[in-house]
Amino acid sequence: MRIFSGVKPTGHPTLGNLLGAMQRWARIDQFRSDDPGDALFCVVDLHALTVPHEPAALRERTREVATLLLATGLDPERCTVFCQSHVAAHTRLTWIMESVVGDGELRRMVQYKEKSARQESVSTALLTYPALMAADILAYGAEEVPVGDDQRQHVELARDLAVRFNTRYGEVFPVPRAVRPPAGARVMNLQVPTDKMGKSDDTAVQGIIYLLDPPDSARRKVMRAVTDGGREVVYDPEAKPGVANLLDILSACGDGTEPAELATRYASYGALKSDVADAVVAVLEPLQARYREFADDPATIDKILRAGADRASALADPYVSAAYDAIGL
Ligand code: ADP
Repeated sequence: MRIFSGVKPTGHPTLGNLLGAMQRWARIDQFRSDDPGDALFCVVDLHALTVPHEPAALRERTREVATLLLATGLDPERCTVFCQSHVAAHTRLTWIMESVVGDGELRRMVQYKEKSARQESVSTALLTYPALMAADILAYGAEEVPVGDDQRQHVELARDLAVRFNTRYGEVFPVPRAVRPPAGARVMNLQVPTDKMGKSDDTAVQGIIYLLDPPDSARRKVMRAVTDGGREVVYDPEAKPGVANLLDILSACGDGTEPAELATRYASYGALKSDVADAVVAVLEPLQARYREFADDPATIDKILRAGADRASALADPYVSAAYDAIGL
């Protein structure tokens, strides 16, 4: 069973990225096979080109995200950590995926609709992003893709494209499926709990906890989180999205106790917020300490990423060659 997932270096990673995806990847790595080629985690830097960007900032963010991946506990001896742009298979397979996907399918993607809304013009890459994402997954024959809820639709499309390719041209790709974490699959902005906590948002930044926020600042953001009317702590994402978000965060930062069960332990919003702040800080502090250790040793990070890219290329090339062959190239 092979697993693939990635994170975009479009901004500073958030608590949403950690709880919905990165923390989960580090845990998967501990109980899956010992073959480092069975779990691949990638800084998807090509995806960052879909929106306007500064080259120097992209390079810095890519380094920050790679360092954070290692700081979460991903062990390069037991999984493969690399940068997407270092492995040519991703772009080689994207063209094949673009020949299989319909433009209507791409235009229907929620993320495309949201990001292109109210823009006079967007890059073609923003539209074709899901074809690149399908290539990311299928190039490794990955079967499981652990992602937060916002990426499920793109994984569904990758699934459809694998089936379509196999039906038209012959069996090449295993059919992947999205895997969601039990809690934290959709962490919401603490100030606008009806919007997801997104790293590239430039509004409501006080509602975004960045993984490298000083712990005091993260604590303040939790204590100032918008809560809902009433006083009772109940888990009701529809009627009380702010409180439900805090309970989700507490569940994902802690031992995984169900949010509804956690709700029964609190008589006030204040007590809940205080425990959420403690739980968030308890997750961030060791993560940041490990981040600083890795950041102080850039040569080791370069070595890990180079070795990861070599291993990833060796795993992807047979799938890409088989796809080229099957399609008549
Ligand atoms: P973004 O730019 O929105 O952070 P990424 O594609 O880089 O998106 O996200 C990397 C991973 O983090 C994906 O699996 C995504 O589903 C997950 N993720 C992003 N934001 C959240 C969130 N607010 N809650 C849960 N998971 C999230």
